[in-house]
Amino acid sequence: MNRFGSSCRESAALAELIDTHCHLDVAEFVDDYHLVRQRAAAAGVCELILPAVDRAGWPRLLEVCRLESGCRPALGLHPLYLQRHGPGDVEELSRRIEAGEVVAVGEIGLDFWEQPSETLRRRQLELFEAQLRIARQASLPVLIHARKAHDQVLAVLRRLRFGRGGIVHAFSGSRQQAQCYIDLGFVIGVGGTITYQRANRVRGVVADLPLSALVLETDAPDIPPAHHRHERNSPEFLPEILHCLARLRDQEPRLVAATTSRTARTLLRLT
Ligand SMILES: [Zn+2]
Repeated sequence: MNRFGSSCRESAALAELIDTHCHLDVAEFVDDYHLVRQRAAAAGVCELILPAVDRAGWPRLLEVCRLESGCRPALGLHPLYLQRHGPGDVEELSRRIEAGEVVAVGEIGLDFWEQPSETLRRRQLELFEAQLRIARQASLPVLIHARKAHDQVLAVLRRLRFGRGGIVHAFSGSRQQAQCYIDLGFVIGVGGTITYQRANRVRGVVADLPLSALVLETDAPDIPPAHHRHERNSPEFLPEILHCLARLRDQEPRLVAATTSRTARTLLRLT
């Protein structure tokens, strides 16, 4: 039970939704994160997973999770911000993960969008592998960030025999790549991208995959859904992603909500 329990039940009328990727701890929400959390609860979003980007942000992220009910922390070192990560950060991550209190390691992965040099690719790979080992040791799932790098991410997961699974956040790969992740015990994070008609391929992929392989996310404050394209994204918009997904799959929103929430709960061991 949490202090938003009643408003969740009243307005959800569907099921309790879980935003599996939401940066409520970042500067864009510093003035009103509590109000945003309340509005998200009123929209039926009862749990939010807050993924980390760098070590400097961990204390704030953990604080927001302490202050706001239903907010669960993940800690990790994001592949895009190599210059922010110091030599002791992986060891510190390991210590904090062992101390408990997080639901996942993330966000971690590979980002080859801007065609990094060989050296930077290698550093991303080393960082990713080190964090996968930490997650494996702690038997925690991972939140994967992958751009232009799905085949490389899949190769690392196979090579390390990473068996705990996780969420491939903001997935925009092919149907075949999605299936490879699913075969490795992962699920696909579905966000605001699917609300744009031009996102043909990913709309087709999420319509075709088994419902049991999908979870919902906003990635707020980034990737706002189409109706809010010029606004700051917010977890309160999660129902729009739900309804869009249900429409694309020609399924009842209630079924999509219940199934995606159950999948997230099981994977992340939310109690
Ligand atoms: Zn993110």
